[in-house]
Amino acid sequence: MNYHKYYPVDVVNGPGTRCSLFVSGCVHQCRGCYNQSTWSLDSGFPFTQELEDHIIADLQDTEIKRQGLTLSGGDPLHPQNIPAILQLVKRVKNECPGKDIWVWTGYLMSELTPEQQEVLEYINVLVDGKFVQDLADPALIWRGSSNQVVHKLR
Ligand code: SF4
Repeated sequence: MNYHKYYPVDVVNGPGTRCSLFVSGCVHQCRGCYNQSTWSLDSGFPFTQELEDHIIADLQDTEIKRQGLTLSGGDPLHPQNIPAILQLVKRVKNECPGKDIWVWTGYLMSELTPEQQEVLEYINVLVDGKFVQDLADPALIWRGSSNQVVHKLR
């Protein structure tokens, strides 16, 4: 998996103070996408073991307490991202108790493959659906257009 940006302290992409990872790779090609540079799986930088360890350490930091981890992109549920995302969310659940995980995807929750659904077992919230420019509304919280749904899984 490749990624574009990692923010160790982020207060805008999800509730509270968070760590946020924006991964590479998206097939949805939404009109008006604000992140077109992330569409190619080859764009950005390799997601290394060092960065994975760094994210876990940031979530365990007791000086700047994080509420949890945000995964966005690009699309964290792009089929080619699933192995690395699964490994990361499993580690967060095992090594960072009490931290929540929010995931943004262009897929619909009802259409996820079994492999994509496995990720849902480890996360707290899934925001699903493509960005639809005609339904865009800046007043919406945690989503760009009104077709998208914030699924609170646990
Ligand atoms: S799902 Fe997100 S990253 Fe992908 S094209 Fe749509 S808005 Fe852009």
